[in-house]
Amino acid sequence: VRLAHRGTDVEALPLSVLVPAKTSEVEKPKTKMIITSRRDYPLTKNFPYSLEHLQASYCKLARVDMRMLCLKKLRKLDLSHNHIKKLPETIGDLVSLQELNLHNNHLESFCVALCNSTLQKSLQFLDLSQNKIKALPVQFCQLQELIHLKLDDNELIRLPFKMGQLSQLRFLSAARNKLPFLPSDFRNLSLEKLDLFGNPFEQPNPLVPSIQLKIPLTLLESAARATVNYRIPYGRHLLPSHLCEDLEVAKTCQCGNACLSCFIQTTVTMNLHYVAHTVVLVDNMGGTEAPIVCYFCSLTCYSQFLDRYLQSNR
Ligand SMILES: [Zn+2]
Repeated sequence: VRLAHRGTDVEALPLSVLVPAKTSEVEKPKTKMIITSRRDYPLTKNFPYSLEHLQASYCKLARVDMRMLCLKKLRKLDLSHNHIKKLPETIGDLVSLQELNLHNNHLESFCVALCNSTLQKSLQFLDLSQNKIKALPVQFCQLQELIHLKLDDNELIRLPFKMGQLSQLRFLSAARNKLPFLPSDFRNLSLEKLDLFGNPFEQPNPLVPSIQLKIPLTLLESAARATVNYRIPYGRHLLPSHLCEDLEVAKTCQCGNACLSCFIQTTVTMNLHYVAHTVVLVDNMGGTEAPIVCYFCSLTCYSQFLDRYLQSNR
């Protein structure tokens, strides 16, 4: 431009000869990046937008880096061995994310917004082991594509109420938590491998149930049971949202009927081979059995169960 501006004759312009770039000099879009120390963590440079697999472990990250959340092609995100306390809701905007590894962090919860996000359609592998999670939300079971779930070494006092809805789940481990028993629909799972080692499982005693039954039933309980049993459509436009939430977690009696806050609860023993092909022993005594919750909608249903139970244990 400078030469042309001065009016230099085109013929006399000293132009360099163009040499095509060699294949080795052209950089392919980067799809994988593995960082395993704080020293290598990029502080000023952005992550390449083409990344599909990103690992940033042992980087002492206290939160998820917002720059990672712009990586729309990301399929695998490994943030294990950091100090992350809370997950941003925007992780749910990673529309292609199939694998999320958060092993060995400081997480205390897994938020509802993530359960309601696009992760429902993409997430297949989730590792939350070695954190400080006490409970997972009911909505967790909306992550319907999950195949592999690791929850070992947390402080879980219960598993999600509707765990059995995770129909794709094949590998589940929740070893070394604080589980006293399993949720009632756990028996709907169909797993290849299950590990529940080292939980303080209670000894089931069906003869000593917890009775939360009011006779006659309250009007609210009767109406709510009818709504669920007859599949009457409801929604937040008709009912206060806390009632909708209660209806969504209605318990199911062994007779098939629903119950909300009036029921009899007890635990029975389940052999874990009933839900999983390979079972890791639950204790050092060689056991593969664990207590599972049962609900009864009425005294009649409970006494029928008790008759069967007593006969089978005679
Ligand atoms: Zn019943």
